[in-house]
Amino acid sequence: MKKFEEFLNKINFKKVAKVYVLVSILLIALCAAAIGYVTRDKIKMAIDYEKVSEAFEHKSFGENLKPKLVKLTSGSKDIINCIVVDKDNNIIYKANDNLVKDNNKFILTSQEASKRYLQDNINKDVAYKVTREENIIFNIDYVKIHDKILSDIDEEFYYEKDLKDEKVNLLNYLINRDTKEKLFIIRTVTPIPYAEALIKTIGGILGLIFIIYWIGIALWVYRDADIKKSNSALWGLLALLTNIIGLIIYTMYKQTNKVCYKCGAIQNKDSVFCGDCGAQINERCKDCNSIINKNQKYCSGCGRKL
Ligand SMILES: [Zn+2]
Ligand SMILES: [Zn+2]
Repeated sequence: MKKFEEFLNKINFKKVAKVYVLVSILLIALCAAAIGYVTRDKIKMAIDYEKVSEAFEHKSFGENLKPKLVKLTSGSKDIINCIVVDKDNNIIYKANDNLVKDNNKFILTSQEASKRYLQDNINKDVAYKVTREENIIFNIDYVKIHDKILSDIDEEFYYEKDLKDEKVNLLNYLINRDTKEKLFIIRTVTPIPYAEALIKTIGGILGLIFIIYWIGIALWVYRDADIKKSNSALWGLLALLTNIIGLIIYTMYKQTNKVCYKCGAIQNKDSVFCGDCGAQINERCKDCNSIINKNQKYCSGCGRKL
């Protein structure tokens, strides 16, 4: 215990706290940058998707939307095709020939093999699964590693056992309420490289930052209480268990008592002398012997002007 206290006394807590805050900010910024970097394609796709969605739902399909659809399709590995159909399901635009090479119409019905999937009127062996719009942006499956996706045939998003490893395409659709035109966005999920390792690393870094903060508070309270000759073990334990709450209680305790100017021990604020070193920490009124604080103008015992 003595060695531990000697070690604590060598620590300059102010300096350590400054370094800790700076390093933490740097590490958190690095983590954010790493996430941004590996998800840049997904973020770009989400932005392009939003632009398309905004343009399609408020205006009937026209030339202005074509470059946006081309950008969305060619800019992302996930997007297989974008198809626009009129109210009678006639294809009026497609970004490429993928999946709909021979289609004039694009009519989706439930698959006979599995009702959970849709098929179109021409390629009956191609399966589609409708996903919600927010899945485009917050698709949790992005973080899975590629091999896991390939082997995980139970995962309904990708493969269905009945479909004999046949790939299921994900489908989002938008409807223009005025013209009844529909926009189908067909996509797959390409995994983010090293996503799992990255998430584990970032989790570890954030966990470490938090643990150092938590233990640091407890150590500081322990040492401060030790210097002030208070029950350091008890205060340290309280701070270790309750962290910021323990720190607040300790600070309040210090404020309602008096710290000896000479030896630093915490004393009852009504004491005249320090119980640890004998220094006089409060004055007494010459007339009535009441204890006087420095900022009093009159004695609270007899009303004498000080
Ligand atoms: Zn003292
Ligand atoms: Zn007095």
